[in-house]
Amino acid sequence: MKTRVLRYSMLTVVLGLTTYLALGFGKRSFEAYCPFGGMESLWGLFREGQFSCATGPLNLSMLVAVIILALIAKKAFCGWVCPIGFLSELIGRLGLKIIPRNTKLNPKLNDRLKLIRYVGLILALYFTYRTGELILRGYDPFYIIFSGFGHGTLGLVTIIVFTITIIGSFLIPMFFCRYLCPLGATIDPFSRLGLIKIARDEELCIDCGDCQAACPHDIAPHEMIYVRHRDCTNCLECIDACPEKDCLTLKVKL
Ligand code: SF4
Ligand code: SF4
Ligand code: SF4
Repeated sequence: MKTRVLRYSMLTVVLGLTTYLALGFGKRSFEAYCPFGGMESLWGLFREGQFSCATGPLNLSMLVAVIILALIAKKAFCGWVCPIGFLSELIGRLGLKIIPRNTKLNPKLNDRLKLIRYVGLILALYFTYRTGELILRGYDPFYIIFSGFGHGTLGLVTIIVFTITIIGSFLIPMFFCRYLCPLGATIDPFSRLGLIKIARDEELCIDCGDCQAACPHDIAPHEMIYVRHRDCTNCLECIDACPEKDCLTLKVKL
């Protein structure tokens, strides 16, 4: 619980800063800090040596920072920084409070649904590179929320997509992160290599499964010695939930 307080405090600060920028108080737009903007600008930079549409050097710097962080600490950006991950987590927890239930999906179905995020990544980049427009704006909850359904959103289409995202997040923990986020898909290969990861002491483990029950991504630390899973955000919820002291710890491991 102590870790969650620390993590939520950090996420609240980021959410507050993003809202501050979205309300027009900062020097730059909130969009300038989106790491996926770095991905969207790559083709324009490669072809014409210039950033496309509203993207700029800060987007690219954010992308590089997120990738370096993933190589060090897996998807820590998702667990400790991203405001959309934070809102998804809060909506998921609210959903569980209102309708207590088992949210575990069939593992095969869960894995197959995760492929959608790679399709989304390819489509987003293809159409962005072809048109030179940030076509994701109409579907991206980060843009939709902080722009207040602003320029580039698609009216009824955006409302429908956004509503599905909210309902999905309410029913399945981290729905958007698991199945739809193109930035998450971008970070995946780097996260697999991430050095700092959860380690389990087999001698101490009593195989109670509390770690998996606490994991927002339904990862099963009790079935591993080191959690190398691409979705692990190093949120430390599993460590907090583990009844055996020092059974789960953070370790540096190749
Ligand atoms: S998967 Fe995407 S939306 Fe979810 S926390 Fe990571 S970057 Fe944010
Ligand atoms: S919560 Fe701890 S003791 Fe229980 S299964 Fe997970 S690692 Fe083992
Ligand atoms: S395995 Fe542990 S640290 Fe990784 S996402 Fe799940 S709860 Fe968080």
